[in-house]
Amino acid sequence: MTPLIVILLTLFAILLVLLVSLFNKMRSKEKSINEQQRIIRELGILNELSASLHTSLDKESVLEMIIDKARSLLKSEHAAILLIDESRRVTDFLTTMGPPPGECKTKLVGTFKKVVNELTTIRTDDIQADPAFSGFPQEHPQIKSVLMVPMILRGEPIGVIVAVNKKNDQFNDNDEDLILNLAFHSSLAIEKVQFHREILKMASTDGLTGLNNHRTFQERLQQEIERARRFDTPLSLLMIDIDRFKKFNDTYGHTQGDEVLKIIAGILKDNVRSIDFVARYGGEEFAVILPQVDLEGALVVAERIRRSAEDYELVFNGHKERVTLSIGVATYPDDASNREELIDHADKALYLAKRTGRNRLCSFREGNGGK
Ligand code: GH3
Ligand code: MG
Ligand code: MG
Repeated sequence: MTPLIVILLTLFAILLVLLVSLFNKMRSKEKSINEQQRIIRELGILNELSASLHTSLDKESVLEMIIDKARSLLKSEHAAILLIDESRRVTDFLTTMGPPPGECKTKLVGTFKKVVNELTTIRTDDIQADPAFSGFPQEHPQIKSVLMVPMILRGEPIGVIVAVNKKNDQFNDNDEDLILNLAFHSSLAIEKVQFHREILKMASTDGLTGLNNHRTFQERLQQEIERARRFDTPLSLLMIDIDRFKKFNDTYGHTQGDEVLKIIAGILKDNVRSIDFVARYGGEEFAVILPQVDLEGALVVAERIRRSAEDYELVFNGHKERVTLSIGVATYPDDASNREELIDHADKALYLAKRTGRNRLCSFREGNGGK
């Protein structure tokens, strides 16, 4: 080989190496651009998620948003979310696949519980071999691959997020990071929703008895009267006051008195329908709104309440005691044309019951000479 050919071959080899390295560089640049685009897309979704999650205070829509984002972020066909309470009972279960049939749901919940109890991630590409996912009927979307992570708040599990069936691929480490990130944002959003719910509840209920408070009662009565007016139906109001309660407090103490208030609250709730509205009006006075109930019906409910209280045997300091109730009844529209008047007239009937012996009911109508 002449030196010229050797030189030419060497130059050719160098050129080849340079070309290959340039090609590789271009490939890796393209790859890193793709990688950057992917990260930007994912950050965008997470950012959007975090912003929208924090604007909504409605639990249902927050949960829907989470499973929607899980699908777009992880490019999965389906997603699901499950929430649990402190005693690890399932409180919410939302999925894009439709509800799983009974037996399968039990199996699935078993798998979710594993994630929750062991605070572990489950990632599998072929669940066909896993009995936890078998037995779904034909019409249920087939589950091939899953990625499940726990949602954790201050070290405690609050639920599970699941991505189902990665589109044209398998779930990878990056998906795992993403869904953990999603679970973190989601946990904060759910905590906020629940906190908001608690605040609303605290603002609307009476701390001692757990009944609706005075303000909520006024709002509800206004709404119910408007509804009764619109649909041309009656509505009754019971005003209820414990008889000689001061004496009870003086004899047994205020703490025992509080216990009685709680017992009466329970008696009231036990004797009305779910659409009725029981409130602590103030002190030892309660109010019950009975929508779509006329005077005759209201007197039946009132008598049932009166008798339940009278029959309830209290035992304090070894003494058997009973408390009785006086109840005033007024009905819209016969006895009153608006909220203030209805309350005033039920109150008048209550004081008639007091004046005429206590432990009894009176209607505004009878106090008014039956007019
Ligand atoms: P009446 O039959 O005329 O209604 O007599 P009463 O003693 O029940 O009526 P009064 O209005 O004189 O007294 C109401 C009592 O209710 C006085 C108060 O000590 C008691 N009370 C009001 N709110 C509470 C409460 O939150 N806890 C307790 N333990 N007692 C309360
Ligand atoms: Mg009283
Ligand atoms: Mg009173």
